[in-house]
Amino acid sequence: MDTPMIDLAAVRADTPGCRRGVFLDSAGSSLPPVQVLDEVVGHLRREAEVGGYVAHDERLPDLEAGYGLMASLLGCEPDEVAFTDSATRSWLAAFDAVPLTAGDRVLVTEVEYAGNAIPLLRRAAEVGATVEPVPSTPAGEIDVAALREMLDERVALVSLVHVPTNGGLVNPVAEVAEAAHEVGALVLLDACQSVGQLPVLASELGADIVSGTGRKWLRGPRGTGFLVVRRPVLERLRPRQVDLRSGTWISPDSYELRADARVFELWESSTADRLGLLAAARYALDLGVDAIADAVLARAEHLRAGLAEVPGVEVHDLGTNRCGIVSFTVADREPEQVRAELAARDVTVTVTGVGSTQYDMTRRGLPEVVRASPHYFTSPDQLDEAVAAVAALKR
Ligand SMILES: *Cc1c(COP(=O)(O)O)cnc(C)c1O
Repeated sequence: MDTPMIDLAAVRADTPGCRRGVFLDSAGSSLPPVQVLDEVVGHLRREAEVGGYVAHDERLPDLEAGYGLMASLLGCEPDEVAFTDSATRSWLAAFDAVPLTAGDRVLVTEVEYAGNAIPLLRRAAEVGATVEPVPSTPAGEIDVAALREMLDERVALVSLVHVPTNGGLVNPVAEVAEAAHEVGALVLLDACQSVGQLPVLASELGADIVSGTGRKWLRGPRGTGFLVVRRPVLERLRPRQVDLRSGTWISPDSYELRADARVFELWESSTADRLGLLAAARYALDLGVDAIADAVLARAEHLRAGLAEVPGVEVHDLGTNRCGIVSFTVADREPEQVRAELAARDVTVTVTGVGSTQYDMTRRGLPEVVRASPHYFTSPDQLDEAVAAVAALKR
């Protein structure tokens, strides 16, 4: 590959938090670079000086340009982008707008996320639709041949998790979208764990709707999310939660909704956080999404290889095409105990349990795994320190 490399010293200099210890939780809530921090804090200070409305208006050109910025990150048009306050808010706004009636079928991956599964199961039960997991291949990705056998004209929606919350596999989006579109089903892509670590271009992947978050791999502030709704799909959706941002009250008894993706936005939002999210998106685009993907994969492979050598450690990642999430267990130690002992050694990891990914963890008989998610700013030496810390747990 001739993608430019990440300048490790430069990105570490931009990331004060990465020198405090070994940070391995970009799948949970990453460390923002100073460019993001300065934007958020600077705007909060400005709000305190002139009030939130004036401060907002001063940044209107940047906020408006933000739709184009996100569009270049996500491979869509600026009017196909909406900003929200989380990936879940984005996903719910879109899902609630998908028409679903008795007898309809929704197909999901075996790595469906709890935050999607709960509203899916609830709404399916209410309207008389079904939620059906598509089997995975032995390697772990969604089985596209099995999907093709399940697809028929009653399938209204395919809910596809790009990268699961609990492991390093990458699902094949383009193949799923192509198959789903042959029967007219909508493809809703949960890109929460992929945007910021992998290229996620809606146009290339063929996803109709894409949801994502700011705080994970993109390194934005908490409380930020975004949604892509491709233009041809918008007219098939019926947004449920609309307000005076989504539309205009044109006479005492009539209103008009916006005809672009911003119909899914609500009036109130944090301008500081939005600006921080945009700074994070700009930072990723400046580094180059392909360079980021190469660096993250290299870090994760380094960590997986190191962990696999430690006696008693089992690495659980599935998939032929892998990414930055590393999942493992340590013999005779609960994942929570591993997390706490690593935290005491300044190594930050998290634990993910069956309640987040029921189909997958139940099927594999795994109640919990430790999740380590290194970003490009984690140095290879730090990864070796983390492996040594895990090895030290054994005695
Ligand atoms: C974290 C996560 C979400 C939810 O993101 P929020 O920003 O917390 O709403 C959705 N899907 C997957 C796969 C996730 O890992």
